[in-house]
Amino acid sequence: TSSSVTVALEHRFADELPEMAVAWQPAPAPGPRLLVLDEGLAAELGLDPAWLRSEDGVRLLTGERVPEGALPVAQAYSGHQFGGLSPRLGDGRALLLGELVDRHGRLRDLHLKGSGRTPFARAGDGLAAVGPMLREHVVATAMHALGIPTTRSLGVVATGRQVRRETWLPGAVLARVASSHLRVGSFQYAALTRDDDLLRRLVDVAVRRHHPQAADAPRPALALLEAVVAVQADLVARWMLVGFVHGVMNTDNMTVSGETIDYGPCAFMEAFDPGTVYSSIDTGGRYAYGNQPVVAAWDLARLAEALLPLLGDDEDEAVAAATAVLDGFRARYAAAWHAGMRAKLGLPAGTDDGVAGALAEDLLPLLQAGRVDHTSFYRRLADVGRAGSPVVVAAATLFPALEDADAVAGAQAWVSRWQATGPDAEAMDRVNPVYVPRNALVEEALDAATAGDLGPLTTLLEAVSSPFDRRAGLERYELPSPGGADGYVTFC
Ligand code: AMP
Ligand code: MG
Ligand code: MG
Repeated sequence: TSSSVTVALEHRFADELPEMAVAWQPAPAPGPRLLVLDEGLAAELGLDPAWLRSEDGVRLLTGERVPEGALPVAQAYSGHQFGGLSPRLGDGRALLLGELVDRHGRLRDLHLKGSGRTPFARAGDGLAAVGPMLREHVVATAMHALGIPTTRSLGVVATGRQVRRETWLPGAVLARVASSHLRVGSFQYAALTRDDDLLRRLVDVAVRRHHPQAADAPRPALALLEAVVAVQADLVARWMLVGFVHGVMNTDNMTVSGETIDYGPCAFMEAFDPGTVYSSIDTGGRYAYGNQPVVAAWDLARLAEALLPLLGDDEDEAVAAATAVLDGFRARYAAAWHAGMRAKLGLPAGTDDGVAGALAEDLLPLLQAGRVDHTSFYRRLADVGRAGSPVVVAAATLFPALEDADAVAGAQAWVSRWQATGPDAEAMDRVNPVYVPRNALVEEALDAATAGDLGPLTTLLEAVSSPFDRRAGLERYELPSPGGADGYVTFC
């Protein structure tokens, strides 16, 4: 019978880092109803999707049925929030249920978000509303389908409990799957205890789990820092290439695995503009689209500071070593971004680096001046390439809002330089998405779901789950938000 299903959850984090784990139980959900389930992910985890849809399965997803032998914990961490250090953040409304070994032999965290107040809740209610949890599910699903490293959402369950926000909203719990929940803020927490043994154990755990090659280095902590700098440079380059605005790049929201985490007020940019901000709380634009690489480097410097006691025999040596590694971020990021732009522009392998780099960099001011929709631009570019459109026609198609004669001439010059490289339109269509979770469509899906209609959510998930293949019936899903996304505001 279904009740005999066992889910083997380990509790390695709790065992190995007890100073950073508080044993805690999820809050009960009075009327659980499964809203969405990622069946592919369930299968990957060795969990039967049919069982997860059963009463017992749903009770696993809300945390009401904690598997025997599991030891749920709230994880402690610190974090710089908008530049200011909060020494004690931690899982205020989340729990690590435990770790499980997936079908590929990889260790994955199973974690709940919205599962009730914990000792880290401060003034918060420990709860989450249906809308934001579904936003995380949609955007994490889209990011994964785009090939961008990310934490995943196994599913979202409406709890049957109302949550007080500006109004009363239906509550929900999201089951998050991650290669781990170790963050920059985890290292800051360990460092602030001034217990070098704890910091060393945390480094060991992170190295074993994510960057095993660092174990053999003369200084594993330094090699870990180097590895995290590399994966974060690559990750943020991927965000920039796809127009993703994370929205809250606090140090507690940066993983050491290189997976995107904590989909709060995130959104996809529409009209290209480095100043793009959607989050209601980011009034200073600290986490604007164009600032993301700089902010990532800033967050990584906080990781380096936390690791400092392990980076050298004395402080001067440690600082010098850390600085050298942090200085590598810029080049790594630039390499990842330029490689990604070569692919987006369909440039043949033999294209000269100088030519490719200038094409990529010169495109950005044109996109901005023309307020061009970032996602559809690259598909349209492939189309004009395929059609062999004359330069004047191509430039007018790609940058319709440019009026100034110099700007139009600049666009035409760019198009003819691009055409001269002999770009591969088919290759472009394999890397440039047709469908991303556009702001108006996300809003529409969340509003409908909150009101009880899951139809728009289902269609949106269908679109973003296979983002590169244009399908009939999904025409609306590739269009910019009506009236643009300028006034769009997201909330945590
Ligand atoms: P975030 O902005 O999502 O990274 O969250 C920052 C901190 O606030 C973390 O420690 C969260 O656990 C905590 N937090 C956010 N929302 C709530 C809530 N509703 N109840 C309790 N803690 C919360
Ligand atoms: Mg967070
Ligand atoms: Mg959050």
